[in-house]
Amino acid sequence: MNEIIKPDTEIVISFSGGKDSSAMLAYLCEQFPNIKKHVVWADTGFEYPDHDKWCAEISKRFGLEVHRVAARRDFFTLAKERGKFASPDCRQCTSDLKRAPIYTWVTRNVKSPNIIMCSGLRAEESARRAKLPQIEIDERITNSKRTVHDFYPLLNWSEKDVKGYLKGAGVPLHDCYDYLSRLSCMVCIYNRKRELQAIKANNREAFDRICEIERQIGFTFKPGYTLDQYIISPWDDQGELEL
Ligand code: SF4
Repeated sequence: MNEIIKPDTEIVISFSGGKDSSAMLAYLCEQFPNIKKHVVWADTGFEYPDHDKWCAEISKRFGLEVHRVAARRDFFTLAKERGKFASPDCRQCTSDLKRAPIYTWVTRNVKSPNIIMCSGLRAEESARRAKLPQIEIDERITNSKRTVHDFYPLLNWSEKDVKGYLKGAGVPLHDCYDYLSRLSCMVCIYNRKRELQAIKANNREAFDRICEIERQIGFTFKPGYTLDQYIISPWDDQGELEL
């Protein structure tokens, strides 16, 4: 990343409170202590209880404040208005609830003409992510007044690297890692059967909210099965998911 840093560069850290974005935050603070940083958390409306406090607590360890952003519609109103849930083929949840409000915040609040937007994606998570360049111009919000690069600092890190780095930095893991491998919305379109079973066992309220919305809109969270049917179905969903 050194080759794109200019004296007025500012870093925007897309932060979820999960292990990857926490490791990324710690790493960027260690590697680039003198660059101005903004930590931005997109609240989808289907977050863990007190998740704002959790994000604030992790950021505070690095002397940074978290900026919460949220779209006009949350996870549930989006599903109700569309009459269906987002899906891996149509990830409107990510584009509407995360990317768009973060872009809006950046364009309103970061005045530098040189911005580096950092995300904790890792290549080993999916074949699509494995093909990403580590740094690229973000054409969606680059214009004549500002150049925005997307940078994935952890692209080549393994999960073991991430956990080891967090341990070394003394950064705790969120409680959801007791039963899940990723922190996401409390129920995510990418959760597989075994994760959904774990969510039903450990976070029944979140699981039941999805079941209730399925009944209200007449559309299932997973194709062909209600969530309750899906977790006991013979369907094998262990293949790779295109995160
Ligand atoms: S965490 Fe999952 S459900 Fe939530 S916005 Fe991202 S992809 Fe959609």
